[in-house]
Amino acid sequence: MVYRLVIDPAQQQNEQIHLTSQQQHYLSRVLRLREGDRFVAMDGRGKSWIARLVGMSAQIIEPLSESTELPIAVTLMTALPKGNGFEEIVRCCTELGTTAFMPTISDRTLLNPSTNKLERWRKIATEAAEQSERQIVPVVLDPIDFAKALIEVDDLETDRYICVTRIEANHLLTHLREKPPKNNLVIATGPEGGWTEAEVKGAIAAGFAPVSLGRRILRAITAPIVAVSVVAASVEQPITNQ
Ligand code: SAM
Repeated sequence: MVYRLVIDPAQQQNEQIHLTSQQQHYLSRVLRLREGDRFVAMDGRGKSWIARLVGMSAQIIEPLSESTELPIAVTLMTALPKGNGFEEIVRCCTELGTTAFMPTISDRTLLNPSTNKLERWRKIATEAAEQSERQIVPVVLDPIDFAKALIEVDDLETDRYICVTRIEANHLLTHLREKPPKNNLVIATGPEGGWTEAEVKGAIAAGFAPVSLGRRILRAITAPIVAVSVVAASVEQPITNQ
């Protein structure tokens, strides 16, 4: 197994990667790599290289041309769930290919996140991107009020969906089959107590289509994971053995 490490693009100069003391510790003490051992360095923005450990830095051997990203950008607009629930959402939805997380504060959101939480979510996104062999690390945006979030993504080129319960709505998959997303897709999921009627109306007025994820009520943590899985399955080309 070749280990992966996300580096800041500023750490790379020509064929050399300057490792931070934390990264040196991680590679040599945690992963037990020795002088000359190889690993994959990725800048989290689409570039990755095979590199080898040389002293306190790393030397780039060759660029890697990998392609594990979804063909469209997927933004997950999630009303923050209670406790540490958003950590699980960030971890799983990063593995599934999410491009950006937009945590939102809705009328029934109970959590008021601290700056520490934001740093933790970003760390989790980085670790999950390394683990799932992605080329990009998804962006975790600062939490924002739901009403403001609707305005932020107001763009006719973006397909926008809001997951709703207890009202008539076609399944997300039906929508994606009828109108395959071209470039960008935003999907909104609510908190434990669900959306208020006014929030759903506001989202629809802002261009979001209400969608179902099936007949069962999913937890606030399960719903975004299912939503991104459905999107990924519908937009991704089948993997063929060559
Ligand atoms: N308290 C709400 C109710 O009783 O209807 C349920 C809220 S659910 C726990 C949290 C969020 O997950 C919902 O606001 C919705 O966005 C999403 N969700 C859960 N199950 C869903 C389903 N079957 N279809 C669409 N969205 C769903």
